[in-house]
Amino acid sequence: MKKSLTASCLCKGVKIKTNGRHRNVSNCHCIQCRKTHGIYGAYSNVKDKDIKYLNKKTLTWFKSSKNAKRGFCNKCGASIFFKFKNTDNISIAAGMFDKPTKLKTMRNIFIGSKSDFYKITDRLPKFNKYPKN
Ligand SMILES: [Zn+2]
Repeated sequence: MKKSLTASCLCKGVKIKTNGRHRNVSNCHCIQCRKTHGIYGAYSNVKDKDIKYLNKKTLTWFKSSKNAKRGFCNKCGASIFFKFKNTDNISIAAGMFDKPTKLKTMRNIFIGSKSDFYKITDRLPKFNKYPKN
């Protein structure tokens, strides 16, 4: 569904406006999301061309693997972005969006890496890797 949303980190040092098609939310249970979010990461995704930075004063990128980087706020510590190398899209932590988002959670991914202190209780599709969009 096409829409326009605003999103920011806790201190608003990173603030964006998004347009166009927003992928519904993937809950990612991989170890990297766990270590940066403290639990699974819940991400939407938009095309690079559909994101406009209103503020990125405190945005810092961390090369989290040889194929990807993660964007976070160096002031409030929010984990905001996930970006695969050589792609034309960017994942945005869904909690950053101002409500109403009209987004829905659609799946759980990398469930084999999830921690053991919670259960996946929804009935959404589960994958042990990154499914094709
Ligand atoms: Zn911040």
